[in-house]
Amino acid sequence: MKLFVQPKYLAYCDQLTHENRKRIRETEEKIQSSPTLPGLHIHPVMNELFAISVTEGIRIIAQKTDEGLVLHYVASHEKAYRWAEEHHAANIQTFAPIERLDSQGSVDLIEQHRPPGAPLELVKSFKDFDQETNNAYSDWLLTHPSGFVLNIGKPITSAPVKLHKARCAFITSSRFEPFIGEFFYKICSDDIDALRQWSRQEGQEPDDCKICKPA
Ligand SMILES: [Zn+2]
Repeated sequence: MKLFVQPKYLAYCDQLTHENRKRIRETEEKIQSSPTLPGLHIHPVMNELFAISVTEGIRIIAQKTDEGLVLHYVASHEKAYRWAEEHHAANIQTFAPIERLDSQGSVDLIEQHRPPGAPLELVKSFKDFDQETNNAYSDWLLTHPSGFVLNIGKPITSAPVKLHKARCAFITSSRFEPFIGEFFYKICSDDIDALRQWSRQEGQEPDDCKICKPA
């Protein structure tokens, strides 16, 4: 079965122990090597989502699509079920998962794969001043190290719109937390031109950060 993973899935894997990562890789190989899912313990969770047992305590949350299986999340049993309930299939993004392949367990971006009909999301907005949005923004930075970020005032005319690399200290350092606050929010993308276009559509010419020099 063809296997796809969401970029965030890899970051979730990295948070687990070496032994658990090894077992996850073995489970992924079993899925890849068969058109069905032999010998795997699978439980439906919600809508199209189901949980695959990796070990007694670890579950992968996956989604079946016409083209294969998309892996979304992996964590302890309890966390995985909670995640699935919070992100049931209607809300999860199935665009641009990356295919995972080689037998060593390393991950290469070989194909931008998008299920038919799914919108390709070029820019992602993080606007609400709350912990959840700040966490989602931090996750985005972690999973898009070569991406770009617009720092925007609330309202947009209150400060120059600044364009940064996703690794720039001005938008990643804990000194500047909360990143999405009362006065500023963020628009993120892997595509620098999509951000410039977004800003111009809002009537603002974006100003390149002098420190990280995104252009
Ligand atoms: Zn910068």
